[in-house]
Amino acid sequence: MTQFLNFLGHMEGNKVFKQSKWPKTLIFEKSTPGRIGYQVPELSSEEEKVLEKAKRTISSDLLRENSPNLPEVSELEVVRHFTRLSQMTYGVDSGFYPLGSCTMKYNPKICDTAASMIDAQNIHPYQPEDTIQGSLQIMYELAKWLAELSGMAGVTLQPAAGAHGEYTGIMILRKYHESQNNLAIKNEIIVPDSAHGTNPATVSMCGFKTIVIPSNNDGCVDIDALRSSVTNKTAGMMLTNPNTLGIFEPNIKEITDIIHDVDGLMYYDGANFNAIMGKVRPGDMGFDIVHFNIHKTFATPHGGGGPGAGPVGVVSHLIPFLPVPSVAYNSTSDFYYLNYNHKQTIGKVRSYFGNFSILLRAYTYILRLGQTGLTRVSEMANLNANYMKAQCARIDGFSVPYGENSSCMHEFVLSAKKLYKETEISALDISKYLLDNGLHPPTVYFPLIVPEALMIEPTETEPKEIIDDFIQVIRNISKLAYSGKKEDIQNAPINTSVGRIDDVKAARDPIISYRMLKKQKKN
Ligand SMILES: *Cc1c(COP(=O)(O)O)cnc(C)c1O
Repeated sequence: MTQFLNFLGHMEGNKVFKQSKWPKTLIFEKSTPGRIGYQVPELSSEEEKVLEKAKRTISSDLLRENSPNLPEVSELEVVRHFTRLSQMTYGVDSGFYPLGSCTMKYNPKICDTAASMIDAQNIHPYQPEDTIQGSLQIMYELAKWLAELSGMAGVTLQPAAGAHGEYTGIMILRKYHESQNNLAIKNEIIVPDSAHGTNPATVSMCGFKTIVIPSNNDGCVDIDALRSSVTNKTAGMMLTNPNTLGIFEPNIKEITDIIHDVDGLMYYDGANFNAIMGKVRPGDMGFDIVHFNIHKTFATPHGGGGPGAGPVGVVSHLIPFLPVPSVAYNSTSDFYYLNYNHKQTIGKVRSYFGNFSILLRAYTYILRLGQTGLTRVSEMANLNANYMKAQCARIDGFSVPYGENSSCMHEFVLSAKKLYKETEISALDISKYLLDNGLHPPTVYFPLIVPEALMIEPTETEPKEIIDDFIQVIRNISKLAYSGKKEDIQNAPINTSVGRIDDVKAARDPIISYRMLKKQKKN
């Protein structure tokens, strides 16, 4: 009882969070032979014939002998299973999710409604163009709006994620240097040490060498380090702006000039686009290529590897290199069509045109908010982050090593270095304790240049009360740690459906399918 009261005492306004703990039975393990929740009609003799013919046409090694091993459960069991799973998980619809860099904001339901319209669901990419004019128009206009928002001349909607957009963009960069007969010399791409891990990975995947440059004391590009790294081998630079510390690069014009002077291209990692919409445009800052994370900025629920979209914008002289097809419009005949005429195209990077339902969400979001709304999104994202930064930086044990005395953009990186040194409470412990309070932790231990980093992005959609709850829990952590009551933090989480997990085992030894589980049980 005392323990319980102690626990309540930690909570502002006595808010108690407890997640459901249902038995962790897989739906496969609930299977009972013959208990089925559906009925399939008998095949007609006509259909039997079609099936027989198909069996003869399909190569025998592709034909399955046994029916697939699907769980046999009733409709009720299916509904309960997934409802319970939803009660054991956590998402933006259940609470605060300030996962820095990932922009886990609330996505208006109207975007899902649009994407689930029957007209949008039942079209097929092989339909003749005259039967999908509406869908083509949506893609055409979305590409145009993204070009406008970023100051680019052309946009491809094909890439399926941010990292995929990076790949597309750097392949365009590669093709550009190839067209200039410079590829033999230009084999290096500069990436700051604060960059997202996908940047250097992309550089390698596209056959370039990553040249990492250190950040200066302000967490920004060190101009001297940049100058001394740039040579005629420099093919370009990938830059995130605002960077992963939530700081807008102050010397952007100088940086882009340095790279352009050696005929390098500037690549803009646009994952943080929600910080600048309607305010500044990468094109005006001197960038040549930019990717958008549609699932971060423009209203698609993400996480867990669901579908996303990472459109890429380019300046006019790079349009010939864009993937095919793009969507074009003939104003004379008022007709939208697929344009395969990009003379030096890098080819296709994905089947068909991209993740259409995700693009439709983005289209709905932009249309719904308009220019004023989008600008306000960025203003609120920045305001929320600055409010949190100012409050958190004051809490004993915490600091903001970069930008403590200046304003940040949409996110900031809090360091628990002092708290860790003085009480052994780490960023990881803090995360687990936040979970116990019904709050998703921030991104931790990233960027690598901040010790005990907590990278916090509140996003524009959170109300002040929720943000205040979070700040209060950080205050409570500081109080508990310094008053010698560390166990509560070190034992957390106890209120979640899953307690502390073995992170290393989870990363090294994942069991992500029933087949893998069965195999493991056999061994
Ligand atoms: C999220 C992110 C990426 C990668 O985007 P995905 O859509 O997850 O592939 C790249 N750079 C930065 C800065 C990011 O935050």
